[in-house]
Amino acid sequence: MAKSNESLDFGIKPEARAAWDKLCKLQDENPVYPCASNPYLFADSDFLTEDEAEQICHGCPLLKACYDFAVANGEQHNIWGGINFSISPEELF
Ligand code: SF4
Repeated sequence: MAKSNESLDFGIKPEARAAWDKLCKLQDENPVYPCASNPYLFADSDFLTEDEAEQICHGCPLLKACYDFAVANGEQHNIWGGINFSISPEELF
């Protein structure tokens, strides 16, 4: 997940704006979370397994807000809230 930053707002759908704002607020309130210290952790996230994604995000204070934003924005890549959104439902089941 990208760090909150005005320059990274590109690609946020209007219907996901509230979820994004909530996520950014939580980032400001909780500056220590797994991908904050290593944003490049997710550079190859399309290739991580579901278990690896869950392990990386385990205990993150932003977990639910991160997931909610990804769903609202229709994300199809990278890890959000412990879920690898690059994996299609067909691959999960
Ligand atoms: S849930 Fe995962 S991807 Fe989202 S902010 Fe936390 S560590 Fe990053």
